[in-house]
Amino acid sequence: MEPQSLDMNDHHHKQSLLMTDDFSATEILLVEDLEAHAQLISRAFETSSHRFSIRIARCLTEARNHLARHQPDLVVADYRLPDGVGTELLPSTESLSSYPIIIMTGQGDEQTAVEAMRAGALDYIVKSEASISEMPRLVARTLREWDNIQQCRKAELALALSEERYALAAKGSKDGLWDWNLSTGTIYCSSRWKSIHGFTDHELDTSADSIYTLVHPDDIEFLKTIINRHLDGSTPHLECEYRIRHKDGSYRWVLIRGVAIRGGDSIPYRMAGSLTDITHRKLAEQQLQHDAFHDSLTDLPNRALFIDRLGVCLERTNRQDDYLFAVLFVDLDRFKMVNDSLGHAIGDQLLKQVASRLVDCLRAGDTVARLGGDEFVVILDGIEHPEKANQIAQRMEKSLENAFNLGGKKLFATASVGIALGSREYRHPEDIIRDADTAMYQAKTRSRGHYEVFNRTMRTDAMERLQMENDMRWALERREFSVFYQPIISLNSGCLEGFEALVRWRHQERGLVLPDAFVPMAEENGLINSIGLFVLEQACQDLHRWQRELLLPNLYVCVNLSAIQLVEKDLINQVVQVLKRTQLNPGALKLEITENLVMENPDIAIQVVLSLKEHGIRFAMDDFGIGYSSLSYLHRFPVDTLKIDRSFIGRMDRDENGLAIVRTIIALARSLKMTVTAEGVENTTQLRLLQDLECNHGQGFYFSEPQNASSTQESLRDKRGLKFQI
Ligand code: C2E
Ligand code: CA
Ligand code: CA
Repeated sequence: MEPQSLDMNDHHHKQSLLMTDDFSATEILLVEDLEAHAQLISRAFETSSHRFSIRIARCLTEARNHLARHQPDLVVADYRLPDGVGTELLPSTESLSSYPIIIMTGQGDEQTAVEAMRAGALDYIVKSEASISEMPRLVARTLREWDNIQQCRKAELALALSEERYALAAKGSKDGLWDWNLSTGTIYCSSRWKSIHGFTDHELDTSADSIYTLVHPDDIEFLKTIINRHLDGSTPHLECEYRIRHKDGSYRWVLIRGVAIRGGDSIPYRMAGSLTDITHRKLAEQQLQHDAFHDSLTDLPNRALFIDRLGVCLERTNRQDDYLFAVLFVDLDRFKMVNDSLGHAIGDQLLKQVASRLVDCLRAGDTVARLGGDEFVVILDGIEHPEKANQIAQRMEKSLENAFNLGGKKLFATASVGIALGSREYRHPEDIIRDADTAMYQAKTRSRGHYEVFNRTMRTDAMERLQMENDMRWALERREFSVFYQPIISLNSGCLEGFEALVRWRHQERGLVLPDAFVPMAEENGLINSIGLFVLEQACQDLHRWQRELLLPNLYVCVNLSAIQLVEKDLINQVVQVLKRTQLNPGALKLEITENLVMENPDIAIQVVLSLKEHGIRFAMDDFGIGYSSLSYLHRFPVDTLKIDRSFIGRMDRDENGLAIVRTIIALARSLKMTVTAEGVENTTQLRLLQDLECNHGQGFYFSEPQNASSTQESLRDKRGLKFQI
């Protein structure tokens, strides 16, 4: 028997097109032996808004014949048929080309229906007038469900295939595999997956919740978001990097990749993928990222990062009225000297230690960066009051006061600090750094180891200074430097003993410039080496001429030596060459070194002094008394003379303390077999007091101001300058 073809929907065609529905023209094979029932069912479909094309088979054989040639979209079969039961029409589970079956049973036969479902029927219907009229809706629902199932099967099959491929690939690779059943919440994790987490195969409860506890707390929300975005279909696949806690307690970086498997309703019911340990790559990346924004020596932020953070502060200044920040520019004093004399390795160590001391002075939100060389910059974020910046600057200076221990060597360092306060006037981060730098420079020229707060006049000063520095580079060639001489007198006899050579700069526009206005700058830019050499040569030459022409063989000259010169490698050779060229007796040359400078670097200073002394040159310790606790160091210094700083001489006739200090210095010098020269003697009272204390020599305006070479020569020639009133 051929199944009847009943196309009942032709006259509904227009309507069903309007109602367009996935199930229009759905082919249904109805297997029903009872003619009455078949008619009833057909009519139900006829009146439905869906479009069905129904074929009817009266028995299993007929149905099978039809199925062999043509596959319907759905089979509705009566359970009891003349040649068997309806469930015999269930397709084998392996075949992909299959169809859903709805089983019909009679009243009171629900048990059979349930068994049919178990066997694989997708739904059942207990025949009644009401249920038959519902048949089209049931079929529609069943078809939708079937579609779901089919999709899942396809996906599963695809996954199985890809997993097979994956497993092969993974065998040799380092990836772990995972497979998450979203409805039960259980996750299958491969042994490699577990070993990435530090667990063996049998450890670890692999439910989603327990696996989430292994995720770094900072990454969990992120990971969940990424997973949800994939589950809701926003992303084509899952990919996320996050940290997990290894069994040993350490955190590792992993890359998770996966894909959700969705049913026909697009709802995912399963998700699977791989897990890769990317800790090494991640650390390397982080290192690169870190390196791009940090200074390799000190590990502090670099200029780029600093500018970035400064930009944030400036923006905040614009938005928020009560917000104040400050930039501190910190520059080590005479770092070049340390670097040149002790070598770069020691210089680097010093910078590192300075960096960590600076960091210790700050709060967590503040930033210290290294701009390069010995320049550090600081952001004080959100300070309550401008005064706070001064306090921090003081704290920094204080923290540098303790000696640095560099490879067993003790070293002292000071820093000059410039402060610029944030304001809305600043448009670019660079501008505020520039102003802090300007203030720092001001601090440096006033007195090293101090701080200054930026103000506008400093900007013009800075311009002038730049001009000055530029001019200084030409001054040597243009012969603008000259040497003045100030007599040094025996306080015992009033006789001239020698001179101190003092440099002067005759500037084209400014006229005579005194050393305090340019020597610190020359020390900073290194020109002091050439200037100092010029003074030395000129002084030796003048003195030798006076000794010879005026028959004054015992006259000596004191030449100031900057600490920068002291660490110049070629210094000893240069001095020896000058003496040779000018033919001056080395015993007639006394080099003055400043206590302050020397104490920063005593070992080097002692070495240089000793070698020059071997050539017969003498030494004086200049500006004595104002510096460090130098008394303890003094016995190590093989100097011949102490020059008491003029500030003490100026005080001694006014306050007891000043006098006491002078007395102590003289006593100390005597015990160390050094002579004493008092600087800055200005009046008779001072002179008398010094004589009472048996101070050896005096120098100061009371006797004579510094004079140029020709005036000096004149006063020597007419003997005025040989003997002074005492
Ligand atoms: P200094 O070595 O302490 O030189 C003595 C300074 O005191 C000189 O200042 C001198 O003019 C001044 N002076 C002398 N007698 C009196 C006095 O009675 N009262 C007062 N108030 N001052 C007096 P000057 O020439 O301006 O030099 C200042 C400093 O510049 C020197 O201080 C020295 O440290 C440095 N300097 C001068 N010439 C050279 C040089 O050729 N090389 C180096 N490296 N530094 C130099
Ligand atoms: Ca001096
Ligand atoms: Ca002095």
